[in-house]
Amino acid sequence: MGTLNPYRPPASRLSEALSLEVGGDCWRDGKDLVVRPGCTLPGRCIKCNEPAELPMRHARFYWHHPALYLTVFLGLLLYLVLALFVRRRTPVTLGLCTRHVRRRRASLALAFGGTALGIGAIAYGMQRDAGPLWMAGAALIVASLIVGIVGSRLLVVTRIGENYTRFRGAGAEFLATLPAFYRTR
Ligand SMILES: [Zn+2]
Repeated sequence: MGTLNPYRPPASRLSEALSLEVGGDCWRDGKDLVVRPGCTLPGRCIKCNEPAELPMRHARFYWHHPALYLTVFLGLLLYLVLALFVRRRTPVTLGLCTRHVRRRRASLALAFGGTALGIGAIAYGMQRDAGPLWMAGAALIVASLIVGIVGSRLLVVTRIGENYTRFRGAGAEFLATLPAFYRTR
């Protein structure tokens, strides 16, 4: 949003313009980032507060009430279908600096490489009937998935309410530049 504006000011002033524009859309609340759905965050890295790469990225975050996880016990498919219907969505335009974009790509590459290696080890281990090898492969896949998920996630949604969405995972320096959240929900 806003980044395709033909009248946009030079990049150095763009962040300031964005900050002004979104003054009433995002706040800090302790370690939480609180936003209104559809908000455009200031043009700085959400992790370290350095200038963000342009254009900023449009991200969508989903959340549902944690109690819904209990339906997993009734069946994974049932849970997935229910979650698809009741989940709430918050689009956010956010920035990452070059360093954090690289770090994110590196963890995704590591996750893909590890998964491929794990699949290879399982296939080879089964062929040779080598139990420890395919078990190591399975462990490598799980570890790769964790690296991929943790390393690539931008923010962690802790709650999507009627009007506001709360996130964990924004950097302290970035949060310090936002106004304090004063509402109770
Ligand atoms: Zn950064």
